[in-house]
Amino acid sequence: MKSELADMTLEQKRTIPDDDVPDSVPVPHALVPHLGETAILLDIDGTLLDLMPTPREVWVPPGLSDTLNRLVERTSGALALVSGRSLNDIDLIFAPDVFRAVAGHGAEMRLSADSEADDVHAPPLDKELKRRLAAIAKLSPGILLEDKGYSLALHYRLAPHAEKAIYESVSLIRADLPNAPIEVLPGKFVCEIKHSGFTKASGVRELMKHEPFRGRRPLFIGDDVTDETVFAIMPDMNGLAFSVGRRAMGVNGHFDAPSDVRAFLARLLDDTRLE
Ligand SMILES: [Mg+2]
Repeated sequence: MKSELADMTLEQKRTIPDDDVPDSVPVPHALVPHLGETAILLDIDGTLLDLMPTPREVWVPPGLSDTLNRLVERTSGALALVSGRSLNDIDLIFAPDVFRAVAGHGAEMRLSADSEADDVHAPPLDKELKRRLAAIAKLSPGILLEDKGYSLALHYRLAPHAEKAIYESVSLIRADLPNAPIEVLPGKFVCEIKHSGFTKASGVRELMKHEPFRGRRPLFIGDDVTDETVFAIMPDMNGLAFSVGRRAMGVNGHFDAPSDVRAFLARLLDDTRLE
């Protein structure tokens, strides 16, 4: 984000308040013209929330729920979480809050924060394929199987020695089914197999066609490899992309850590010039 300062006009620089702003917290006024015209799209793990030893240990720090709810209000609802987690999982983490979301790497979408409204889901993985992939969990104790319906994840944090065998088995199944529309998403101690027909980017493109997102300028923040598909489409929508923990290709700036992202979001609310 520091890099943005160099690109700003004198007029923009004059609008930066003199108080001490940590370097990694961007200056909202220059980068987010009006919350009323912006769609805020946020990855969860490693972006909004600090990474933990296991995915189940993440927690929502004090103040974040309030910040997100106020941003929802100020953007007339144009705030969405964009995650590889399932909608179900997201709701458990943020309960009792329910946010609009692109979930499951684009397989699931919630266009309304009304929990009674229908969510949109990708078709489930083929049953026979799933059965064969699920059998991989039998390779070793400690491999945990997570069936998200539209994808299947093999977690091996408790059996790291099994990594090679897991990927080899997945490769054999794929070689056996060359026409199956699937792809493998390698993660940290997880191998996820999903439909190749959707990504976080395809989910975001779809989301942006709907109210209250349509016509707004998206601002996306993400930290991981799967977020790069979204960074790549932001210019198409005149959007802004920020990475976390590293400066990713094609982003407008970056944050050092999730705490900086949270501080940035809170500061958007404090800056009344953004009305
Ligand atoms: Mg992430």
